[in-house]
Amino acid sequence: MSTDNALQLQPGAAARQRVIVVGAGVVGLASAVALARRGIKVTVIDKEGVAAGASFGNAGHFATEQVFPLADPALLPKLPGMLLDPLGPFRIRPAYFHRALPWFLRFVVNMSRKNRERNGVAIKALNLNAMAATRELLAFCGRPELLVENGSLLVFETRDKQVIDAEFRTYRDAGVAVKLLNGDEALALEPSLTAAVTAALWFTEVGHTPSPKAICDALADTLIRLGGSIELGCVKELQGGGAPSALLDDGRKLKADKLLLCAGAWSKPLAQSAGHKVPLDTERGYHLMMLQQSGLKRPVASFERKFIITPMDGGTRLAGTVEFGGLDAPMSPARADCLLPHAKALLPEVFAAATVDDGERWMGFRPSMPDSLPVLGESQSQGVYLCFGHQHLGLTWAATTAELMGQLMTGETPAIEMRPYSVKRFD
Ligand SMILES: Cc1cc2nc3c(=O)[nH]c(=O)nc-3n(C[C@H](O)[C@H](O)[C@H](O)COP(=O)(O)OP(=O)(O)OC[C@H]3O[C@@H](n4cnc5c(N)ncnc54)[C@H](O)[C@@H]3O)c2cc1C
Repeated sequence: MSTDNALQLQPGAAARQRVIVVGAGVVGLASAVALARRGIKVTVIDKEGVAAGASFGNAGHFATEQVFPLADPALLPKLPGMLLDPLGPFRIRPAYFHRALPWFLRFVVNMSRKNRERNGVAIKALNLNAMAATRELLAFCGRPELLVENGSLLVFETRDKQVIDAEFRTYRDAGVAVKLLNGDEALALEPSLTAAVTAALWFTEVGHTPSPKAICDALADTLIRLGGSIELGCVKELQGGGAPSALLDDGRKLKADKLLLCAGAWSKPLAQSAGHKVPLDTERGYHLMMLQQSGLKRPVASFERKFIITPMDGGTRLAGTVEFGGLDAPMSPARADCLLPHAKALLPEVFAAATVDDGERWMGFRPSMPDSLPVLGESQSQGVYLCFGHQHLGLTWAATTAELMGQLMTGETPAIEMRPYSVKRFD
């Protein structure tokens, strides 16, 4: 995908347009900047402020190696165990089971070979330019250092060589840039790792950020520099038609030429107000932000332990776990705390004396569709556009989907085929 047409501001016919973006997470802010660079007057509305949702506390991994849809038939035999283990890496809160069921039924349908292949192609199309788009966007914001391109590691401790070789081949055959390292080679790259690591996959063309929050702040500053604004407000309804408007819960009615919905996991009722019933649910995820510096130069994920460690400004972030429990249930602090023993095992010297009290617990809401694809494009309600559902990859895809929405909303031809992401796939 070329980003050339976004390199300069383009005050043209679009210059007179006004767009309201709902949601100041990384997806909404990146989209707002893409529109503002095209000369559009953009107002971002958020009920809490900049980076109040998942974009604050994610693992900071630009994970373009994740080319496989999450609906994997290998998960099926594990589903019953998920209910039973409150600290397992993948859990459904029992009280939420009946509400998650429709989503899970669609998830299972997406496990078929045909659907997995189709969804995988659409995931790859977004991944393809994600690093370049992020690099370009952060350079435009004057913060290129917020993208570190040292790749990432997926480490193995107990798996047989056969399993490891098969994993390597799966990624390589899917076109992912990956090297298979033995334990010594992995330790040479990351000396603070335990000697119990027997092998690693080194994804060489991915990256990470030392601060997901700083990316959102940089985007917000850039938007304001381009003449946009950010306001506090809780949108309760999107009204399309000849004069699109966003209705706020305080009674305000904000008018614009176009509205763009980027409210992450909260997007479902707002999409419904624009005429679409979408199967959006949230995969709640946790982090424990430790004050210890790890010395790691890149994110390290564990194949067996199912979590990721990312070196960040101000410490080391331990992140992961999936919990189905909706938007209202309180966080389960134990799910954040249980990440520390795993980090102690992988980085024994770094965390030898650490306790959970050295860390800050956080939970965020991944916005996930059962086919692992975001919803991107125009709604059936005139003037209302949709950009949400970025699942585990919202940081990775923000710059790319922002460009696509910028192109679509200003009449340019989007750089990739947009049909796979259309909300119409749920009609
Ligand atoms: C533990 C964890 C680790 C992750 N790690 C990674 C990773 O390493 N790499 C990666 O690419 N992705 C990762 N993700 C996923 C990524 O964080 C999300 O996909 C991404 O942040 C979604 O961005 P968003 O802007 O769509 O949503 P959010 O960041 O959630 O923003 C939505 C915004 O909308 C606002 N809003 C909601 N309702 C309304 C309303 N009615 N009116 C006004 N405003 C409203 C909210 O206040 C919020 O600010 C991770 C997620 C979690 C939870």
